[in-house]
Amino acid sequence: MTRESQTKLIDTHIHLASPKYIDLSGLFRRAKYNGVIAIIATGTGLEENQKIIVLEKSYKNFVHCAIGLHPESHNYLSKDNVSKVTHNIVKWRDSIVAIGEVGLPYYSIRDRDNFDYEIEKALPSLNAFLALAEKEQLPVILHAPHKSAERALQSLKKYNIEKAVFHWHKSPLKITREIINNGFYISVTPEIVYEERDKTLVKNVPLSNLLLETDGPWSYEHEFSGKLTEPYFIRRIAEEIAKIKGVSLLDIAEKTTENAIKLFGLKI
Ligand SMILES: [Zn+2]
Repeated sequence: MTRESQTKLIDTHIHLASPKYIDLSGLFRRAKYNGVIAIIATGTGLEENQKIIVLEKSYKNFVHCAIGLHPESHNYLSKDNVSKVTHNIVKWRDSIVAIGEVGLPYYSIRDRDNFDYEIEKALPSLNAFLALAEKEQLPVILHAPHKSAERALQSLKKYNIEKAVFHWHKSPLKITREIINNGFYISVTPEIVYEERDKTLVKNVPLSNLLLETDGPWSYEHEFSGKLTEPYFIRRIAEEIAKIKGVSLLDIAEKTTENAIKLFGLKI
């Protein structure tokens, strides 16, 4: 039983293989009770990718998986690591719904004067994943916050990528509009509940381009403070967006779930 059985939500980005998630059956129970019907587990590197492939097999049709290499990790610049992950994407092609998370760094670039240089260094890795996404016709889950979003968008166009989401999106409105105009998605985290920046962003993004995510186990503030981030948080994100957009929770659930099903080609 769920709280409202018609409310169907999807957490489109969570690091389910994190050692912080020790009680997966409790996590799934709480998720389902709050209307979550599917989870996209994302991978940040070789080890995590391997673990989520196992989870996908154990929790078929509820856990869907995306594998990648996190762009804020120094491994992202290693050709060897990129080639191992791309090899696994091909090997596990039938078990995955997307490539991710991949993208461009932002937070790990300490020397902001050399920002462009650092982005140039990371681009060959992103481009290798995008070339594969184009070849395999797989959607892409991007980590490209703030200034990095514009460069990632250029690469998406270069590789004719049609399906992508800018996860935990943060960038100037001009870039956000360009992302939307190109038919890509942006996803929103629990920060929407207490961050003005996210509220403003959502006002400017049509429902047709919105997805919901927790990025768990990343922890949040205010009402989420001290709580382990789990997929059931998605319901609070949807409630907050409903308030901002002046529509019902059910409307938000229906539309964002339809978007996720379309983007990832989910068979649910
Ligand atoms: Zn993530």
